[in-house]
Amino acid sequence: MTNMNHPRSTLYSPGQVTLVGAGPGDPELLTIKAHKAIQAATLLLVDDLVSDAIVALGAPGVRVVWVGKRGGCKSTPQSFIERLMITAAREGENVVRLKGGDPFMFGRGGEEVEHLQAEGVRVSVVNGITAGLAAVTSLNTPLTHRDHAHGVVFVTGHSKPGDAERDWPALAQAAAHARLTLVIYMGIRGAPAIQNGLLQGLDRATPVAIVQNVSLAQQQQALCTLDSLAQTIALQRIASPAVIVVGDVLKGAMALSATELTFTRYVG
Ligand code: SAH
Repeated sequence: MTNMNHPRSTLYSPGQVTLVGAGPGDPELLTIKAHKAIQAATLLLVDDLVSDAIVALGAPGVRVVWVGKRGGCKSTPQSFIERLMITAAREGENVVRLKGGDPFMFGRGGEEVEHLQAEGVRVSVVNGITAGLAAVTSLNTPLTHRDHAHGVVFVTGHSKPGDAERDWPALAQAAAHARLTLVIYMGIRGAPAIQNGLLQGLDRATPVAIVQNVSLAQQQQALCTLDSLAQTIALQRIASPAVIVVGDVLKGAMALSATELTFTRYVG
């Protein structure tokens, strides 16, 4: 029987892979478990959205492989990353796969765990603070609130090639009826379509926040209403990585922003 009281004992031994959530960027938002795993790694496989300050926490001499767009002209193919993890673990390395935010939130963590397990490689996962949570928190705003939102939907604005698009009108209707906050990842490029779809179920004055580079020195955010989402992104030149948060939980942040209609950009 596995001793569930001591999960740490398996975390830092050689010949295994740990998927580690690096959080939204600020190294101080790492968990202690993530920090320890990074320090114990002999091989760090680093995703695009992981900040350099976090990679710098690795032990002296640790081998670092950038597998995001920084590592080459395009992102490294997923199959290559998985093969590299398997080979290195079999050679006895303590492989840490560093992923932005939480590994299981739109990070392909699920696919990687399945693949590693199918190959008989020991794998474990360390949670990280997901960007959507850190984004609203940076505005002193909760994701749920007894007066405004009884739940949260985390949803991607970007589909795998060939997959169906999100049903934004249905999501908007559910959000309106059940009073849910919508947290949209990878939604910047599709913002005009997202806005149009959401307006079919949500009030045009629903508050929206768009937060770029959450928790980093260059964090920027804009507050607006749903009917001006795409316009705000264009005017403020907000680019990826950014999350879009939609819902009445933002009413407080909106009220604080006296100049909301001029799309004031707040620099964190
Ligand atoms: N696993 C990650 C999400 C990966 S998908 C997590 O849990 O946060 C990539 C998307 O996440 C980006 O397109 C963006 O929508 C969001 N994201 C990740 N890091 C971010 C950051 N520092 N600031 C704003 N958005 C971020």
